[in-house]
Amino acid sequence: MGYEIKKVADVADVLKKRLKTMEHKPSILRAIELKALADEIPLLKPEKRAAFGKELNKLKAELQKMVEVAEEETTKLEPIDVTAPFDVNTRKRPRPLSSELGSQNPIMADQDELINIFARMGFTAIESRQIDDDYHMFGSLNFPEGHPARDDYDSFVTAEKDKNGKPFIAPAHTSTMQNRVLKQFKPNLEKGQAIAVVIPGRVFRNEDLDPRHEHTFQQIEGVYVDKGIHAGHLIATLKTFLQEYYGQELDVKTQPFYFPFTEPSFEFAMSCPFCRKKGCNVCSYSGWIEILGCGMIHPNVLKEAGIDPNVFTGFAWGVGTMRLTMMKYGIEDIRHFNSGKLEFLRQFK
Ligand SMILES: [Zn+2]
Repeated sequence: MGYEIKKVADVADVLKKRLKTMEHKPSILRAIELKALADEIPLLKPEKRAAFGKELNKLKAELQKMVEVAEEETTKLEPIDVTAPFDVNTRKRPRPLSSELGSQNPIMADQDELINIFARMGFTAIESRQIDDDYHMFGSLNFPEGHPARDDYDSFVTAEKDKNGKPFIAPAHTSTMQNRVLKQFKPNLEKGQAIAVVIPGRVFRNEDLDPRHEHTFQQIEGVYVDKGIHAGHLIATLKTFLQEYYGQELDVKTQPFYFPFTEPSFEFAMSCPFCRKKGCNVCSYSGWIEILGCGMIHPNVLKEAGIDPNVFTGFAWGVGTMRLTMMKYGIEDIRHFNSGKLEFLRQFK
């Protein structure tokens, strides 16, 4: 643009100079249009016409030459990318942005790693839903109406109601998928194969936010059902998974807990992978970290999915994976994950 303005200014300059030397002095506005000048010829005295015509032709030739030169120079210019950002301050010609490769959010990168660990152990992955109903959130999981344990899963609900007159729910745990997965893979049991599924997904809780609490976070649920499955299988599976993830031998222990959808239920702890039980700030100097909730699938949950609990047994667990990731990389604030802050995300390239 700057280039063209300069050229127009040059043309005006030449015109001004030329018009000054001309005996008949037309206005610069008329001079810009050569045809208007030519139209003046019949208005001049006959003896002046030849000289004016000659000067006019010279002017025309000069201007034509300038146009040709300008056109030739234009063809030498680099092509301009009109979609590139334009620096309004320096008015410099557009330049392409410097390219920067993006990277996966550590939540998703870690989720892929966790799914891979379980895939090597024979688990199929099925993603959970981000909106679900009361039946899958509670009813199918042995939380009867009015059960006090429902209060521990305070999530967000829609104003719209489902066919049973209940609001839809942003799931507070990935266990909402248990009933669906058990029904879908029930034919495995009839063929003599186990049901082995992990369910990664986003879950929601109505939490006040602080460095340890987020309203939106990530879980991986696991479900395993076959004949003769007992708590020993559960503990071995989870121990193997945690050892693979943290890349070292770990000790694990369980303590009794309560969930309506497992019986017995456990709180599962691992030896601190950072201090190896010597005590550090990650494990609050206890040497142990409580990492997940798990248990043997409640017979009512199996029955609800059409599986005979007298023939088949199974275990299930749910683990908040953002906490695993936070511990692995020493991330101090859970809110970083969903913040979209580039200073945080660039560290995980
Ligand atoms: Zn420790």
